[in-house]
Amino acid sequence: MTLTQDVARTVAGLRDDVCALHAELPRYGLVAWTAGNVSARVPGAELLVIKPSGVRYEDLTPQSMVVCDLDGTVVEGDHAPSSDTAAQAYVYRHRADVGGVVHTHSPYATAWAARAEPVPCVLTMCADEFGGDIPVGPFAMIGDDSIGRGIVETLAGSRSPAVLMQNHGVFAVGPTARDAVKAAVMCEDVARTTHLARQLGAPVPVSEADTDRLFERYQHVYGQQEERS
Ligand SMILES: [Zn+2]
Repeated sequence: MTLTQDVARTVAGLRDDVCALHAELPRYGLVAWTAGNVSARVPGAELLVIKPSGVRYEDLTPQSMVVCDLDGTVVEGDHAPSSDTAAQAYVYRHRADVGGVVHTHSPYATAWAARAEPVPCVLTMCADEFGGDIPVGPFAMIGDDSIGRGIVETLAGSRSPAVLMQNHGVFAVGPTARDAVKAAVMCEDVARTTHLARQLGAPVPVSEADTDRLFERYQHVYGQQEERS
């Protein structure tokens, strides 16, 4: 496939962005070795940009990012794409509002996934970011689109941009790849603090009405101010 000049320019910018965003995953302690990945949708094209498979974080370069179509077939790239490409492509095909997807096995969130237990909304930060509990998706095999189906089905019943796939880890989505990375970082932070709270006793839930108010305020007031600054 030959990319038009406009698409090629967009892809070049996204290679830089997606490569730079990968540095946030080890920085926040969300990944070990080569696990985890970030992808971004290419606006105006049926394409995505994703991490190559098996390349260590410190060796990632914009040029090593892989461009795939939304069926997960490689369009541009010297490496094989991440083994999560089929799952992420499924999300892009079924969620037109999603511009970025992130996957990690971040330890605290994944410990909740190992128990197939949603992270309960016991912190204002959880209400702000996730609009309620962080939900758990089904057990799904790696490699085909069954993870993608689990992500889309679980998030359809929730305001959360993150899902804990059972026995596996975190998948986070957002309007951009940067938003998805932020959701993955906040998911781990909320999972960690809620875990610590549990060690000390029974955390107090945030009421549904307060969760709604916090979510509305954060999404429509705080979020925009943050974007403007
Ligand atoms: Zn994984």
